Amino acid sequence: MFGLTEDQIRRYSRQIILPSVGGRGQRRLLQARVLMVGTGGLGSPAALYLAAAGVGTLGLADSDDVDLSNLHRQVVHRTSDLGGPKTASAARTIRALNPDVTVTLHQERITADNALEILELYDVIVEGSDNFPTKYLMNDACVLLKKPLVFGAVYQFEGQAAVFRAGDGPCYRCIFPDPPPPGAVPSCQEAGVLGAVPGVIGTIQATETLKLLLDVGTPLTRRLLVFDALEMSFLELEMEQNPTCPVCGQHPTILALTDGGGGEREATCTLHADARGPNGGEPL
Ligand SMILES: [Zn+2]
Repeated sequence: MFGLTEDQIRRYSRQIILPSVGGRGQRRLLQARVLMVGTGGLGSPAALYLAAAGVGTLGLADSDDVDLSNLHRQVVHRTSDLGGPKTASAARTIRALNPDVTVTLHQERITADNALEILELYDVIVEGSDNFPTKYLMNDACVLLKKPLVFGAVYQFEGQAAVFRAGDGPCYRCIFPDPPPPGAVPSCQEAGVLGAVPGVIGTIQATETLKLLLDVGTPLTRRLLVFDALEMSFLELEMEQNPTCPVCGQHPTILALTDGGGGEREATCTLHADARGPNGGEPL
């Protein structure tokens, strides 16, 4: 059936049985290519669920090593992986979970010089980095390449998720035109984060990625999902494209990538303090 082996039909049976997935959808997932930018708190659950679902090629981009303080939230890594590269550690877990998945490692830091070349290889980009310059770089690269960007961010007990897709609502820069000034947002080391919070947001990112690949449901475009774990509430903010956006607006000024625009690439929590952004934004 659709070129699936008997093992694959069994492995994915609970997914194949879904009317909007079927053997055809499963085949589509097995042929899909997804890039995880970051294999940390967001990338861990996202990569695990995408691998389990049978996404055929997972690219893992991360230049960090596994630290003991990562393990309370970065569940793709093991205690035995301490000190080693996160990409290799995540790849081991993914291969053990699902041998159907081809894992491609991008151990180098993604920069303005290599971003387009790397992103071009993938259908969907899942953004789970821990710094604003990377988030802006990934946004601009996705707009230029017209690739969907599945965004996530966390801070303490809060999180945000959205899908930015060229031609279908705003990009990240439309909502947050400028990165916060260096030092304005504390690092997770300083501010803390409840381990399960990136688990929730990363799992939402995996869900949205699967929906995009399968072309089912309504994507999380044109709205920012805001999660408050302490209240256990989800709020949606309506977001519109900014016609003067420097990258996706009517007269774009960002026509090529630069590393210069996003400030220092220090690891921080990645939630903009004002979830509504300077453009405003009305709760739905
Ligand atoms: Zn934009």
